[in-house]
Amino acid sequence: MIFHILTIFPEFFRGPLEHGVVAKARESGVLDIRVHNLRDWTYDRHKTVDDRPFGGGEGMLLKPEPVFEGVEAILPHRGAAAQVVLLSAQGRLFDQGLARSWSGLSELLLICGRYEGVDERVSEHLVDDEVSIGDFVLSGGELAAAVMVDVVARLLPGVLGNEASRVWESFSAEGHGRGLLDCPQYTRPAEFRGWKVPEVLLSGHHGEIRKWRRQAAEEKTARMRPDLLRGGNE
Ligand code: SAH
Repeated sequence: MIFHILTIFPEFFRGPLEHGVVAKARESGVLDIRVHNLRDWTYDRHKTVDDRPFGGGEGMLLKPEPVFEGVEAILPHRGAAAQVVLLSAQGRLFDQGLARSWSGLSELLLICGRYEGVDERVSEHLVDDEVSIGDFVLSGGELAAAVMVDVVARLLPGVLGNEASRVWESFSAEGHGRGLLDCPQYTRPAEFRGWKVPEVLLSGHHGEIRKWRRQAAEEKTARMRPDLLRGGNE
């Protein structure tokens, strides 16, 4: 899968996507991340990408021309397998289900906004979707793009060392089931500062361990995210 990122801060991605399983997957060619500088599609001496909002108001907006031209140059042949997404606090919420559907794409282009946002015609006439990573306002789309690439990348076949770990994790429709949170897990020592690991996990009794994990996942979901039990995430 090819991820494209359109941004005014290409250097931003040097750090976040160069560690762990995502870095390994890039090296092995399972995925490719191409970062494009929005200023490559400007023609004035100052490489201007922003302008003042009509009707007045605070701050600046990303102009439509470089965004349209950039997207058209990066993905000249768009189709169902190559999607363009605007990152925006006004978008619909990103979740594991959306990440799973994107993991079937051949190309995904993420447009990072900055300043006060992006001319609305990008949302109206250019992109396939407008997506937010949560109900808060970031100063730019770059962190959100890094989050999305990370989440989608680990769903691609061959990225995680152990494919089973994707089944037994939070929001999985399989595993603990029904989009619950993952169960609590413990490692050694079996007793730390007087706090003991639940006895059943040391018992070696697989049936009992499975039952305990299922129940613990339900309890934790009820405590931390009751909305999920009411049928939120898948
Ligand atoms: N004026 C806008 C916020 C602009 S923040 C508003 O009130 O909705 C600047 C840029 O940061 C946005 O264009 C978007 O690309 C990015 N951004 C901010 N919050 C985000 C979020 N929750 N999810 C994804 N991108 C976000």
